[in-house]
Order: sequence, then structure tokens, then C-alpha cells
Amino acid sequence: THFGFKQVPVDSKEHLVGNVFSSVASNYDIMNDVMSLGVHRLWKDHFIKKLDVGARPGGEPLEFLDVAGGTGDIAFGLLDNALSKYSDNKSKIIVADINQDMLNEGKKRFLNTKFAYESNSRIEFLQQNGQVLDKIPDNSKDVYTIAFGIRNFTDIQAGLNAAYRVLKPGGIFACLEFSKVNNPILDSIYSNYSFTFLPLMGQLIANDRESYQYLVESIKKFPSQDKFASMIREAGFYVPGVGYENLSFGIAAIHIGVKL
Ligand code: SAM
Repeated sequence: THFGFKQVPVDSKEHLVGNVFSSVASNYDIMNDVMSLGVHRLWKDHFIKKLDVGARPGGEPLEFLDVAGGTGDIAFGLLDNALSKYSDNKSKIIVADINQDMLNEGKKRFLNTKFAYESNSRIEFLQQNGQVLDKIPDNSKDVYTIAFGIRNFTDIQAGLNAAYRVLKPGGIFACLEFSKVNNPILDSIYSNYSFTFLPLMGQLIANDRESYQYLVESIKKFPSQDKFASMIREAGFYVPGVGYENLSFGIAAIHIGVKL
């Protein structure tokens, strides 16, 4: 395609992922809307409200980390929730993403948020591979979020282990990701939709069929809700209950883990 997709060696998933997101950074909202029929906005709102993080009045400010945070949706939402519900105007967030184009898009969008007017910026955009997080110290974060990012990792378990490492004891891991539809009939409708309609939409909207094809395949390959919950346990987290909440019949799911 015109994004040089084909020049990437096929075995180099990280480069491929880099290219996919460079090519979509500016078309990003459209892509998400197409992928989820617009529902990703509701899922993200629900994710943020469910977590409901924020320093309680008089409490210590919190340290948030949003990995694969791309364009900042989750980060701005977390800061907003903390401010409006707890008058928390002190907690800080790092948005970490492997792709500088996505981070640049996030920085641009940040300028349109109310947080851009604060004298001490509480948000930092940091290029980092979520599987490594080498610039994030051990036991330093209160909340780790990742939305629609972890399925792109070459080594998901390494990503979970890194999440565990950087969280403080008592810290919370929360992941929003496409998952497995739990009803066979709906699943077959959704599979047809995603394998035929989505690449076509990608071609029409972004002139980029391959990137959308890749995204569909990455969703298909991602582990089931139960398997992913067991990987979160494997990383060392305490996983309450079944460990997840299905959204829209499992098209997406929220997984939670606590570092004890
Ligand atoms: N969290 C944002 C949201 O929900 O709108 C962005 C999600 S976007 C679909 C996926 C993001 O994951 C991209 O910004 C991509 O660059 C990032 N990503 C992919 N692999 C990554 C890795 N190994 N480490 C960090 N970020 C990664």
C-alpha cells in the first residue's frame, strides 16, 4: 500500500504493528468507530467509570500509567473522572506507546483538553514498548490501564509481567480488549462482519485494506476471556471472581487484576 506495508519482513510483528498504527494514527477515530460500530466510546466510558480511580480528598496523588495509550482517550478520561468525582487535580499519568506517531496525535489532542491549561502538566507522553517498560521503575504505579493494545503485543505474557513489575503493591491492572463473543449465533454473524466488511471498509475509508485485515486477525488470535484471566494470574496478580466482565456479548471484555 502507500504506507510501505509490504516492505516489512513478515516475521517482524513489532514493525508491522508500528506500520499499522502509523498508517492509521490520523484516521484513528474512524477506524475505531468502524471496528466497533461506534460502541468503543461507550466501552471506554464504562471502563473509566468502573475503575473510578482518583485520589480521595486529602489523600496522596496517584500515579496512573496508560500503556498503548495512543491518542490519549483513556488518559483524558481517567483524569476527568478523578477531577469531577474526587476533585483530584494532583494525580499524574504517563501515556506510554510504542508508536511515536500515535503519541504525537495524543499530544495534539491533549491541547484541546482542559488539562492543557494547568500550570504543572500532569500528563507525560513516553515512547515505550509495553512488553518491557524499561523507563518505568518497579513498584511505582497505582493503576495500569491498557485499552485495545495488548493484543498487538508479540509476547502478551511479557506485557503482563511488566505490568506487574511496575505496579505498587495494592496497585490495579485493568485491560479493555476485544474478546470472544459468547453466543455461537452472534459469533458467526460477528465473524462474517469482521472478515468481510471490515477489510472492505478499511479499503474504502483509509485506502488501507491490509491494516484492517491485520486488526481483524489480531482479534481472532487473542486468547479467550478465561485463558487471558489465567495469564493475568500467571503474572502474579490476584484476579477477583472470574476476572472479567463481558461487554456487548464478549465483543470486548474488561479484565482486572490486583497486585497484592
Ligand atoms: N488505547 C488507545 C485507545 O483505546 O484508543 C489506543 C489503542 S490502539 C488500537 C493500539 C495502540 O497500541 C497503538 O497506539 C499502538 O501503537 C500500540 N501498541 C502496539 N504494540 C505496542 C507495544 N508493544 N507497546 C506499546 N504500545 C503498543
